[in-house]
Amino acid sequence: MSDELAAEIEAANAELADKTPQEIMKWAMDRFGDKIALAWSGAEDVAVVDIMAKVDPKARVFTLDTGRLNPETYDVIDRVRDKYNMNIEVMFPNSDDTEAMVREQGMNLFYKSVDNRKLCCKTRKVQPLRRQLATLDAWVTGLRADQAVTRTALKVVEIDEAFGGIVKVNPLARWSHEDVWNYIKENEVPYNELHDNGYPSIGCAPCTRKVAEGEDIRAGRWWWESPETKECGLHVKEK
Ligand code: SF4
Repeated sequence: MSDELAAEIEAANAELADKTPQEIMKWAMDRFGDKIALAWSGAEDVAVVDIMAKVDPKARVFTLDTGRLNPETYDVIDRVRDKYNMNIEVMFPNSDDTEAMVREQGMNLFYKSVDNRKLCCKTRKVQPLRRQLATLDAWVTGLRADQAVTRTALKVVEIDEAFGGIVKVNPLARWSHEDVWNYIKENEVPYNELHDNGYPSIGCAPCTRKVAEGEDIRAGRWWWESPETKECGLHVKEK
C-alpha cells in the first residue's frame, strides 16, 4: 500500500464517516469503477446490492458458495440475480484442497475444534475470497459495527491489511439491525427466507442455528464457540 493511498483513504474515511450508505457507495463506485465489488454473504448485504444497483446497474456482486449452504440461500442468490438482472459472480472452493481436508478430517470437522473450524472456513471461504480480491482494487461488505464484539472499531473505509492492502468499504458501518430491515422492506429487496424463521444471521447450514427471542443476533453462528473466536477469517487478519 502506498503512502498516497493510505492518506486518501484516511481523508475519505473522515469525510464519509457521517454520510449515508448511498453517498458512501457513490464515492466508492466513482473512485474504483469496475474494480470494486460487493462480497455478498448475509442479510445486510442484500440492502447493499440494492444500493449499489441504484448507483450503477452494472455494479459487481460476488458470493462464496462453500458447498454447505442452505437451499434458501441458493434460492435468494437467483432471486437477486433475476430482480437486478445481474450476473452474480459465484466463487467456489479449490476442489483439491477441499477433498484433502474432508479426506483427512471428515465432513463435519468444524465441530471437533476451533482450529478445524478455522481450517474449513479458510478452505471454503477465505481462499476463494482471496482469489477474487486479487483481481480487485476495493471490496464492499455489509458489516456493521454493532454486529459483534470483534467489529466495534469498524470504519466506513479502510485499508484491509488481511488481504494485501486492498481498500474495504463498509457502507452500513453506522446502521443498526433495524435500519437494515427497514431498508429491505421499504425497497422490497429479496432476502433469505430463513430470516423469517428465526435465523437473524445466516452462514453455512451446519454452522448456523435458530436463535431464541432476545438472544444475541449472532448467537446462532458457530454456537458451540465463545464470542471472541466467532469470525470466519473474512474480516479479521489471519494469524
Ligand atoms: S461456516 Fe462452517 S461449513 Fe462453512 S466454511 Fe466455516 S466451518 Fe465450514
